[in-house]
Amino acid sequence: RAKDLGRGQYQVFTPTMYYAAHQLLKIETDLHRAIKQKELLVYYQPIVDLAQGKIVGFEALVRWLHPQHGLMFPDSFLPVAEETGLICSIGSLVIEQACDQLSQWQQQGFTHLNIYINLAVQQLSQSSLVEEIDRILAKTKLDSDSIKLEITESSMMQNLQSTKLLLRQLQERGIKLSIDDFGTGYSSLSQLQTFPVNTLKIDRSFIQNLDGTPDNLGLVPVILSIAHVMKLNVVAEGIETKQQLTQLRELGCHFGQGFLFAKPLNAEEATKLIAQNPHW
Ligand code: C2E
Ligand code: MG
Ligand code: MG
Ligand code: MG
Repeated sequence: RAKDLGRGQYQVFTPTMYYAAHQLLKIETDLHRAIKQKELLVYYQPIVDLAQGKIVGFEALVRWLHPQHGLMFPDSFLPVAEETGLICSIGSLVIEQACDQLSQWQQQGFTHLNIYINLAVQQLSQSSLVEEIDRILAKTKLDSDSIKLEITESSMMQNLQSTKLLLRQLQERGIKLSIDDFGTGYSSLSQLQTFPVNTLKIDRSFIQNLDGTPDNLGLVPVILSIAHVMKLNVVAEGIETKQQLTQLRELGCHFGQGFLFAKPLNAEEATKLIAQNPHW
């Protein structure tokens, strides 16, 4: 900070800093409008039961259909949303849109489908989150069992006590919890055991190294053993090749998602895919 530089010194506000600050403000203003004007959309990426080769659910992934910039990905606006606190409004919007969509699919007869929804760390201390979820459950009449909330391993380890309380409240409602990007954070196994968690999602970086040979399995078998001992389901993220799929099947991994099956799709495309009933 400029103040820390001491008396008689001053920090220059460079054009780059000005530009960055300006961009941030612009995205923030734009995001406020986007939330109001319903420019934020949920895309859906299938999650596949690897033994059956069938779609069992979808992960809800937010997109921004920006009037000037077109379809924007979360990496380009979630950091600003997190910094400004707008992430909670966006999160609520995603939960509602995704649950409405799942409810539509279930009414069309696809009753076996689940929805996986990402929660940002800020939502874990959002006091209204549980009430909002209760309201959405009441409105959509969804079976709470078909909703899975994803929390990254690193965000789970922040505010341990309040996070645990929230997770217990969700668990009491029958909502299942997944740990996202598992293997990239710093949770200890003994900590992990004290959380009411149901699924581990193995981070894509571990799956990328699988090349069909037994030499580059890396930590994947270790994570699968941990999950087995702790009686947790496993979803492998980022499956892109047939070899990766074959190896994960041989290793006994339950579920997977990745571009090999499908990229995240808009609601209409996802509905078409479900109707086609694909088999891998
Ligand atoms: P994530 O939750 O780990 O989601 C998986 C990301 O990996 C998605 O990126 C997905 O498109 C991408 N992916 C899936 N399969 C493959 C593959 O085979 N290869 C490659 N290269 N990538 C694959 P996306 O949609 O850009 O989302 C990025 C991250 O943004 C998510 O990572 C999640 O952390 C966050 N995010 C997305 N939607 C939401 C949301 O509604 N709320 C919150 N809080 N975070 C969200
Ligand atoms: Mg996720
Ligand atoms: Mg992930
Ligand atoms: Mg991720």
